[in-house]
Amino acid sequence: MKDGAMTAKTTGGPAGQIGQDERFAAVERVMARFDYQPHGLVEVLRAAQEAYGQLPRDLLVAVADKLDVPLSKVYGVATFYDMFTLDPVGETHALICTDPVCAVKGGGDVLAEACRHAGIDAPGGTSAGGRTSVRAASCLGLCDQAPAALVDGRAQVDLAPGDVPALLRGEASPARLQVRGEPRILTGPIGRLAPTDLAAHRAEGAFEALAKALGQTTPDEVIAQVKESGLTGRGGAGFPTGLKWAFARQAPGEARYVVCNFDESEPGTFKDRALMEGNPFRVLEGLILNAYAIGARTGYIFIRGEYPAATAVIERALGELYAANLLGEDILGSGFDLDLEIRRGAGAYICGEETALFEAIEGHRGHPRAKPPYPTQHGLFGQPTVVNNVETLAVIPSLIEHGGAWFRQWGTEQSVGLKLFCLSGHVKQPGVVEVPLGLTLRELVERFGGGFDGEPQAVLLGGAAGGFVGPDGLDVPLTHEALRPLDVPIGSGAVMVFNRSVDLWQVLESLAHFFVHETCGQCAPCRLGTRQMLSLIDRINLGAGSEGERDRLHRLGQTIRRACACGLGLTAANPVLTYFQHFEPEVGRPG
Ligand code: SF4
Repeated sequence: MKDGAMTAKTTGGPAGQIGQDERFAAVERVMARFDYQPHGLVEVLRAAQEAYGQLPRDLLVAVADKLDVPLSKVYGVATFYDMFTLDPVGETHALICTDPVCAVKGGGDVLAEACRHAGIDAPGGTSAGGRTSVRAASCLGLCDQAPAALVDGRAQVDLAPGDVPALLRGEASPARLQVRGEPRILTGPIGRLAPTDLAAHRAEGAFEALAKALGQTTPDEVIAQVKESGLTGRGGAGFPTGLKWAFARQAPGEARYVVCNFDESEPGTFKDRALMEGNPFRVLEGLILNAYAIGARTGYIFIRGEYPAATAVIERALGELYAANLLGEDILGSGFDLDLEIRRGAGAYICGEETALFEAIEGHRGHPRAKPPYPTQHGLFGQPTVVNNVETLAVIPSLIEHGGAWFRQWGTEQSVGLKLFCLSGHVKQPGVVEVPLGLTLRELVERFGGGFDGEPQAVLLGGAAGGFVGPDGLDVPLTHEALRPLDVPIGSGAVMVFNRSVDLWQVLESLAHFFVHETCGQCAPCRLGTRQMLSLIDRINLGAGSEGERDRLHRLGQTIRRACACGLGLTAANPVLTYFQHFEPEVGRPG
């Protein structure tokens, strides 16, 4: 959470002067696209950041004037999101990932070398003359090619300190899509068909499910198929998808909305990026079916700000769909109308939480809302809304094509279907793997990840919000019911493997930093508890922590888990608590 203060009038000279600036024309165009309504504020500030390389004070004043909102509102949003900077960034702007997998693969050395090369004292600085700025970044969704960086929006991967000159020129190794598994249903075309070649995808059956639904299936029958499948949300929360759709369809409202949650920010997770960059039509078909089922006429694709390549793919795919009458008015002559719009995040992990995501789309800071009311009753713009993860939507066309029961041929009674997992860390062949639920971690790594790289010490399953398992957890099936006794969720499907060369306390420290940075700050147990957690971990890491402090850290973790208001806070202590549970079980046990 960034903070600060600014007071100024929203009228006067500076705004007038900046209005003459030709760069402001680009910002004004975005305001006009939103009809000067404040809900476009995040997109407006994104355009301003791109045009100016910063958000100067006069610019904020001008935007406040034009949108007729208080400057404090504009400033509040400008200082909330990580990708917005009040001070100028360099002509070359490098974000270098230091989250756990990049860290154990040498991301810290790359960051230090980038600073040295640019003549910057420490990450966060800008070189003399403003040529280069270098920052440490949270997970960039490129963990299978760690260490990774984003330089002026271009993803570069597999970095070593010697690559830094090329990295800062934007000429280091570009990112690839690495996908394996069996059966490859959701990921099948990735690497085989061009992602925006609609004709090629249709030749392989894309949009047949939509044509079938619009021509022969009522919205209630679509929902019945999704319910029948047993599909649960693949973003981490695991709520039954069909039930969510039914709630929204039944809820009273003037309008209904669907949202594709592509704010994939969970450290260790990159499956949604692979789907969207490699197979966007399947996800978009799922979103259109979702809209048809609940009666929505407008939908949003909320894309994490750090995914510019995926954004370009989706923009092009949407254009193709409008041209083919698969979006817009009277889709395929059915009388069903739907418009889909892209909204981009600006660097805030919390916006993956569905109500924080609504706040971002509505032009506010990404602060989660109190629940109830739930989004299916009172969601985006106060109307019934369904938010689905990218992977969840990718399943939908097959459910309509084959019937809901088809999905139950994989997995178990309680953990149904296929799932994408993201292998990273000490695995010989990292990447996205599509498999039925129920394989063990060992099978996943040995059959589809080329085996462990070194003797495995721990696996962080489900990302920063997930939990650790030790070597004795490698043979537990990846199902909700088998993992429950270990207190570890499948979550987003992140599988970060650490071999015995890794100090797990360093990993805990990195995760604690992540949560301190990403808390939205609304509630004290999260805002203060995450800082206290980091401070205790730091002390223990420095050898200054007594046994009593390990117990204190354990108790603090339990308090955070019980007292926070949203999923971020409720899961922030999971790594610490599962570390103690599986590696130091004597901690926290009554003596
Ligand atoms: Fe914000 Fe944390 Fe409270 Fe969630 S738990 S609302 S992230 S402060």
